Amino acid sequence: MSDCIFCKIAAGEIPSDRVYEDDVCVAFRDLDPQAPVHLLVIPKVHVDGADAVTGDNSGLVAHIFEVIPGLMRGQGVSGGFRVVTNVGQDGGQSVRHLHFHVLGGRALGWPPG
Ligand code: AMP
Repeated sequence: MSDCIFCKIAAGEIPSDRVYEDDVCVAFRDLDPQAPVHLLVIPKVHVDGADAVTGDNSGLVAHIFEVIPGLMRGQGVSGGFRVVTNVGQDGGQSVRHLHFHVLGGRALGWPPG
């Protein structure tokens, strides 16, 4: 999508602090980190959010979840981590491109806000 900031990050048109990339996804540091390690992992193709995952694109999600543990090991996170995806207005989704927040490096509170 031409006006999607995460599509532009995936395409390298907007700079990001990228820590990983493959054919399917890109991981980069969140601009406003909520933990010592706070990555965003996005599919390269545009998917609006977790509410737009279907049988046609769910392989992207599986792939991202296969990638995440190694990413966090690479960031030195050994004590566990959290994966969050916000969905829609009430879910607090501010960027309408499917993304997974991956947070670690400290003990995380529960429940979230
Ligand atoms: P959400 O509010 O769940 O949609 O998450 C969007 C996240 O994207 C927020 O945590 C923002 O800090 C982050 N963000 C927005 N623009 C950028 C950017 N250009 N580079 C890195 N992170 C960004």
